[in-house]
Amino acid sequence: MKVILTSRIACSEVQKLADACLDEELSAETKRRVLEHTQNCEACRDWISAIGRLRHRVQSAVRRLEIPAHFRRGLRATLGL
Ligand SMILES: [Zn+2]
Repeated sequence: MKVILTSRIACSEVQKLADACLDEELSAETKRRVLEHTQNCEACRDWISAIGRLRHRVQSAVRRLEIPAHFRRGLRATLGL
């Protein structure tokens, strides 16, 4: 694997920032540097897309969860429905 070391931030830094990057919590400058890094670094690109896929799977699993009837009743009562 060829890694071009022209980026200013290290792989460990990018991988630490991956979560914040997906949450859009990075400053524009930091995000730009992360994206710039991933353009040259296959390992970090894979890392971020793996985290993205994992999150997507967790989100769709949560959406498929059955809400227990008693919880739904309680929620309706709380919301006045
Ligand atoms: Zn990297």
